[in-house]
Amino acid sequence: MVFVKKKSMSQSQKIGVNGINTKPYINKFKKNLHIKRKICKFCADKIVVDYKNISLLRTFMTEKGKIFSSRITGTCTKHQRKLTIAIKRARVLALLPFTNN
Ligand SMILES: [Zn+2]
Repeated sequence: MVFVKKKSMSQSQKIGVNGINTKPYINKFKKNLHIKRKICKFCADKIVVDYKNISLLRTFMTEKGKIFSSRITGTCTKHQRKLTIAIKRARVLALLPFTNN
């Protein structure tokens, strides 16, 4: 904690109680509060994750063969875990590529 000598009223208002600048500022995280939340495709359509359904699994992969994170696709934790296992299983069975080269 930093003790600040109060020179004048304006000075103390600027610096604040603990020496932290209490100037009003726009919270950059608050801006995105009203963005529509992504929904899990598997929960919404009640699709069972299957390693044989290659066309579906390909939508959750990049061109180079990487698996998209749930943050990008909006898949829930439960289904993301099943999805990664299914993709890895399909890779071993040579249904999906490990890399695209
Ligand atoms: Zn889900």
